[in-house]
Amino acid sequence: MNQQVSYLMANGSEPVLLLHKQDNRIFESTVMFNLKKLFSRETYNPLTPELMREYNQHRPLGPQPYLCYAPFKSIYFGHGGKAVACCYNRNHVLGTYPQQSIKQIWLGDEANKLREYIKHNDLSLGCLGCKQHITSGNFDAVKTLQYDERTLNKNKYPSVMEFELSNVCNLECAMCNGNFSSLIRAKRENLPPLEIPYNTAFVDQLEEFIPYLDEVKFYGGEPFLVDIYYDIWERILKINPKVRISVQTNGTTLNSRLKDLMEGIDFHINVSFDSLKKEVYEEIRRNAVYERVRENINYFREYCSRKNTFFGISVCAMQQNRMELPEFINFCNGLDAPVYFHTVLYPEHCSIRNLSATELDETVDFLKGFSFPENTPVQKKNGQHYHDLLNQIVQWQSKATRRIDVSSIKTFADLEQLIIAHVQNDKSSVEELKQARIEKIEANLQNLKARLPAEMLNQLLGRFDINDPFLLDNASFFLEKLSVDELIARYNEVVQK
Ligand code: SF4
Repeated sequence: MNQQVSYLMANGSEPVLLLHKQDNRIFESTVMFNLKKLFSRETYNPLTPELMREYNQHRPLGPQPYLCYAPFKSIYFGHGGKAVACCYNRNHVLGTYPQQSIKQIWLGDEANKLREYIKHNDLSLGCLGCKQHITSGNFDAVKTLQYDERTLNKNKYPSVMEFELSNVCNLECAMCNGNFSSLIRAKRENLPPLEIPYNTAFVDQLEEFIPYLDEVKFYGGEPFLVDIYYDIWERILKINPKVRISVQTNGTTLNSRLKDLMEGIDFHINVSFDSLKKEVYEEIRRNAVYERVRENINYFREYCSRKNTFFGISVCAMQQNRMELPEFINFCNGLDAPVYFHTVLYPEHCSIRNLSATELDETVDFLKGFSFPENTPVQKKNGQHYHDLLNQIVQWQSKATRRIDVSSIKTFADLEQLIIAHVQNDKSSVEELKQARIEKIEANLQNLKARLPAEMLNQLLGRFDINDPFLLDNASFFLEKLSVDELIARYNEVVQK
């Protein structure tokens, strides 16, 4: 029998050579081993090699050294000055402006921590959406793919910046909330305006980053109503006019000031548009006028063709418009525009996921009855997006009959049991690490119970949405990654909301 012994040839703290001794002969292994991984106090929870292989096969550029490039290429500034790697991971905050400068955030410990997790194929530092899509085999919906093709700058500056700096908006859409609409915040939620920390100093700091950017994306609120975006567009025009400027608009705003500005900038435009029926559209997009938005869509379409920039339509797929989804494919094929379907999870009365099992059966039967032409690249893409959405709805359909019975979760102990069982059944997690994860979670739960009064635990329980697909992922994430003090601070925040 061959005997195998491995020797580590240390070389500082960076990659070292792994030597194998077999039958008294020594072989150099091609495996690069990272000492940091061996001795770091952080334990990682990598995706299984089988999942990694499958996911890598679906990537547009084929297998890549890193599972995701968002933390290496991109930074996303959201509300309250919070910066994250991408909008799918809002749990792991990289830093906060203006307490930290843009550069401090980009080079800071939290950003490096997320990079380390990703280098270890570990999506448990807040990347739960991507993890869920990868583990369910819904590879087209994995956000990571958007970053593969962006530039990885040698000087390590980001090549993508995304801005969601303000919630100023003129609409009060059915599926939206006050974080994204100033009107909803004031009228539906009766809350004071959001504090917006972004200022001229922020725009000044951006100047250092603009020369290295490929793309900048603007979200709202409604981006064409956000004053600071106009300042940023001016700086980009001055410093690096070749940057791709993408805007996600609700399509309602198109005045002569904007038309003039658009002639000087090459905007790439995505319009949110959720129904082809006036009454349904205006019920969803409250305050918008259907005919006006249809006219604007035609204007934006023609503009993007003339400027040779991207034009697309985004549809929030919801209970209200679920039977219109096939029509959207034909509508967008007619415009030669790709359509993107967003799955709405909240509020529950809008979400397809929350339909009854019978309604989901009807929806799936109906949507399965359509096929679409595939003669152009856009038609092919739209057919694929329809197919992916249908897969998602089919998944919800299969889960509808096995929904957790909310009435069975009466005590915090019931929830604890569910969380532990969830980690035990996590098929994406490497077996040997599970016990350590469970021990950490159990220890944190014990400490929490010792330090928090029972009534607070019950108050928390009242806030859980047991149908949330991320509930158990989120709960296990926080219990595993945070200290008890951090957990208590976070729980205080939740309970006070
Ligand atoms: S893995 Fe997904 S959630 Fe995490 S940073 Fe990458 S794109 Fe964002």
